[in-house]
Amino acid sequence: MAKLTKRLDGNVPGEFYVDSSCIDCDLCRQIAPSVFRAEGDNSIVHHQPADVAEAQRAEMALVTCPTASIGTLEKRNLNAAIQSFPEPIEDGVHFCGFASEDSFGGSSYLIVRPGGNVLVDSPRFNAPLVRRIESLGGVKWMFLSHIDDVADHQKFRDHFGCDRIMHAGDAHFDVERVIEGRDPVSIAADLVVIPTPGHTAGSQVLLHQGRFLFTGDHLWWNPEDGRLGASRRYNWHSWTEQRRSMKKLLDHPFEWVLPGHGARHRASAPEMRRQLQDLIARMK
Ligand code: SF4
Repeated sequence: MAKLTKRLDGNVPGEFYVDSSCIDCDLCRQIAPSVFRAEGDNSIVHHQPADVAEAQRAEMALVTCPTASIGTLEKRNLNAAIQSFPEPIEDGVHFCGFASEDSFGGSSYLIVRPGGNVLVDSPRFNAPLVRRIESLGGVKWMFLSHIDDVADHQKFRDHFGCDRIMHAGDAHFDVERVIEGRDPVSIAADLVVIPTPGHTAGSQVLLHQGRFLFTGDHLWWNPEDGRLGASRRYNWHSWTEQRRSMKKLLDHPFEWVLPGHGARHRASAPEMRRQLQDLIARMK
């Protein structure tokens, strides 16, 4: 629960505020950029919601915040914000909201598909979110991109009976399906797991329909410079390997980057390939 006594000075006066427990995960800025912005190592409210739509985006950020660092002066009815997750992105792909502090506020996604739904990385195990996922058909597979973003995986496994898919390089606990080696593995006609060691030894990405690439912490979009990005600072295994893995993605056209951390991005497949080549050149 956010505390008014810890309210950050940078917040503009008014109903919404961020307190000093913020871990700078970026999600509130992605969900409600007209309300939240970065200031130093935190987010702050730079503009109070001016209408119902802006207020609901701010409330969606509030329920997603992994550290409950967003507060309001008055108690608010958050039902609409809670019920808005999983939030549709495109073609059955949803953003789950409800981030977990255990994955440092990593984004997770739900793919709703006729052959069984896929949960990509782990949101917080939150009862209303779980009921919404049940109403969308439950979870058949849980794709875990790497060891950092597994959060409440065991609770989702216990509740939905889903098979967890993880690479051997990061599978430090028992999972139902272990991916070995470096070659892509097709788990269904529309789902390809591509091992991308580098950020961690067992990082992997998931390609859905040849369009949606779920990238964990391997690859993201940086809206500040308008380019694809990868982090050398937050590379825990091998930068050389991560660059090699990035090159491998040139074999797989895609139109969406859906990361664990960082912004998501859509572009045509040729433009995404051009962006990827640019990133690979910068990773030298
Ligand atoms: S969602 Fe919460 S932790 Fe993340 S940047 Fe916003 S206030 Fe900080």
